[in-house]
Amino acid sequence: MKNISVLGSTGSIGRATLEVVRCFPDRFNVVGLAAKDNIGLLESQVHAFKPEVIAVSDEAAGRELKKKNLPVEILTGDKGLEEIATITHVDMVVSAIVGSAALMPTYAAIRAGKDIALASKETLVMAGSIIMAEASRKGISVIPVDSEHSAIFQCLNGRKGHEVQKIILTASGGAFLRKDLSELEKVTPEEALKHPNWLMGKKITIDSATLMNKGLEVIEAHWLFGLPAEKISVVLHPQSIVHSMVEFIDGSILAQLSVPDMKGPISYALSYPDRFGDVLPPLDFSKIRMLTFEETDWKKYRCLGLSYNALNTGGTMPSVLNAANEVAVEAFLNKRILFTEIPDVVLNTMSQHKISDCKTIGDVIEASNWARKKSEDLINERRD
Ligand code: MG
Repeated sequence: MKNISVLGSTGSIGRATLEVVRCFPDRFNVVGLAAKDNIGLLESQVHAFKPEVIAVSDEAAGRELKKKNLPVEILTGDKGLEEIATITHVDMVVSAIVGSAALMPTYAAIRAGKDIALASKETLVMAGSIIMAEASRKGISVIPVDSEHSAIFQCLNGRKGHEVQKIILTASGGAFLRKDLSELEKVTPEEALKHPNWLMGKKITIDSATLMNKGLEVIEAHWLFGLPAEKISVVLHPQSIVHSMVEFIDGSILAQLSVPDMKGPISYALSYPDRFGDVLPPLDFSKIRMLTFEETDWKKYRCLGLSYNALNTGGTMPSVLNAANEVAVEAFLNKRILFTEIPDVVLNTMSQHKISDCKTIGDVIEASNWARKKSEDLINERRD
């Protein structure tokens, strides 16, 4: 029996995690749940999974939920999140909070010696060196939940880095794969939120359409697998069936395939090194018939190039890339900027940043806060 906590239990990864848990009740005990403000869903999760303690990071929503006298201890605020991440008898923390808010509770969980099933890629983008160093100091595992990284983790299967020629991350191309660059100025948030293959939260769906999601995944892969940027490549694969590949030095390539459903990588992270049965339906090749691959268009997907720049620059730059992108995506969703202005905001913020080393989490947060403010200012300036 594995005791788990789920950070971000009402988001799309959190919900899929609990669906997996529901199928294997004799393998998992849900001890803690944490969410931002979706208290309706959190309440039903309390009834279904009977956790000992839950946290609502939004203070007002937390006070609201406390009025219901649920049979569970309720914590609130950022401190509540960290408590859920560090409960003494929890073995594994599923880190599935969207964006930079995941960093502090995930770091706290690692420092408390918990294994991590990591869906929050921003944590590694912002503070990869600190997170991975702490994980190795504590001797805990960081197991990827991101489908591409789960694929690579499965293909590597413990093989040594010197045998790896490169890893190849696949990208669906998002909602605008078949649109030209010239057509992208006019696209709306509603159109951008229609992902062809995956059902995900808003932020990551927009990131898929700009390919920033893939850029963040390049940085995530760098930290998870210890490979330099030049050994990490991206190929467009519109069907999202091949989740990623590893090319070895002898020219052999291993790929991992499945139907595009996050229950696959979540289940593997929870069950590793075992595999659970009956998680996903098998692929029906008579229906798929064709898998295609295309080169990425760097002019159209500028966010991908910016991510490689941030990774190669190092220090606090990836944290700045991430924060500026969060602000820009939010501004696009609120119709304050155009879709094509997202990379402008990120680039202009990055170009004004004075890079420093990432020695502590404080350095990372400081750079992130600076970038949030700078990108907000840039957005306000262009609207004046
Ligand atoms: Mg992914």
